[in-house]
Amino acid sequence: MPFTQTYLEIPADFYTQLSPEPLVQAHLVALNRDLIQQQHVDLSEQTILDIAAGKVVEGMSPLAQKYTGHQFGYYNPDLGDGRGILLGQWQTPQGEHFDWHLKGAGRTPYSRRGDGRAVLRSVIREYLASEALHALSVPTTRALAIASGDEQVWRESLEPRANLIRVTPTHIRFGHFEWAASQSPQHSQTLADYVIKHHYPECASEPKPYESLLKLILQRTARTIAHWQAVGFNHGVMNTDNMSILGETFDFGPYAFFDDCQIDYICNHTDTGGRYAYNEQPNVGLWNGQVLAQAFEPLIESAEKRQDSLNDYVEAYNQNYVDLMRAKLGLTNPQPKDKLLIADLLICLDKHRVDYHVFMRSLADLNNPHPVWPQTDDYQAWLLAYKQRLEQETLTEAQRSELILNTNPALVLRNYIAQHIIEQAEKGDRDIVDQWRQWLASPFIENPEWQQWTQPPHSHLKGHQLSCSS
Ligand code: AMP
Ligand code: MG
Repeated sequence: MPFTQTYLEIPADFYTQLSPEPLVQAHLVALNRDLIQQQHVDLSEQTILDIAAGKVVEGMSPLAQKYTGHQFGYYNPDLGDGRGILLGQWQTPQGEHFDWHLKGAGRTPYSRRGDGRAVLRSVIREYLASEALHALSVPTTRALAIASGDEQVWRESLEPRANLIRVTPTHIRFGHFEWAASQSPQHSQTLADYVIKHHYPECASEPKPYESLLKLILQRTARTIAHWQAVGFNHGVMNTDNMSILGETFDFGPYAFFDDCQIDYICNHTDTGGRYAYNEQPNVGLWNGQVLAQAFEPLIESAEKRQDSLNDYVEAYNQNYVDLMRAKLGLTNPQPKDKLLIADLLICLDKHRVDYHVFMRSLADLNNPHPVWPQTDDYQAWLLAYKQRLEQETLTEAQRSELILNTNPALVLRNYIAQHIIEQAEKGDRDIVDQWRQWLASPFIENPEWQQWTQPPHSHLKGHQLSCSS
């Protein structure tokens, strides 16, 4: 079978080889046929179920990766894959490699006090969120399949055990570089060389490959966080061990998409200080970037050069964010005051707790005031400024409207929807998760089948916070 394990190229202290702990009486809860097709996975459904249930097939060499990281601002040296095992890489006929990672695969030497398992609720949340973000063009890991078994796992109550096959070119995190730096300069170099060889080959021909590597990682991180801000996504646990070196959205826990626009929204109920609140995400990305830059010290001696990458992060973030928001507002012709227009809108939507997604889409029609528009002076002032701004555009009204409808999704994986899907799946509905995956893959074209789910939740279901065990 076309699996390989390139992580064996680096020394054995970077990982521990071990096998998954199989699921009992496994069945598939979800199978991502779109991803299977895109990555030319010519395996039978039974084989994918077997793999998701913990079977090791030819070519795989399962291992748990060692990394460390900063959690809520504090360095934790004891981290590593504690409930996920890297099975190997799938090689496509085009020669691309994708990690297959089994989340929930059982205990590893890095599990600490955990059981190494995942619950159905949390893997459904990851499966759907990663596919939803992908459909919104947000860089993210993907999800290939979910299998669940007969066992129950204790979280806040007993819940069904389940595994997720996560797919991405690499699971290397900022925390891998932190661990390497804590070991020796040779470890940092080995890791950086592996990363350049497999994931950033364009750096190899640069005069300073490691400087280019740090720059590119931080630029990609900035771009992804700009996307989160634009689509109204709160990740919730931006620890440095949850930051991918590809800049992808990585490790889905208590995340939330906005209902009402609330800029200091905290989706993670254990985050009492709001370190990972929605409006903190760009700053935390920079803070995490500083940690990564520090871990690059053995590779880039000059503090000034490391600082350059951080400055680039800020610039890349600002540029990407304004570009993305401009498109959401149906604007194409950049103007210096756009930043202000965007900021004023967010302040207004926040102040009046307006549903973010319904509002953004409502701008497609300026002729009829939408029920979510605030009946307030500040909103009227903003609307006037927006209409004046449109005079600097060349798009026709129909084109502007079309741009808005193609940029702002009608269907969003709000938490009340995720909760509904989870409840149905826990009751035994075997089709609902993939039904929703398909719907979330085309969130811009309104579909009578899901029309009822485009509405904001009732107020008692809004802004519900989730725990880390999500
Ligand atoms: P997370 O908050 O999901 O990013 O996890 C932080 C760390 O704890 C990672 O190293 C995980 O592998 C580990 N971890 C999380 N949940 C479990 C669990 N149920 N059993 C063992 N390790 C876990
Ligand atoms: Mg994690």
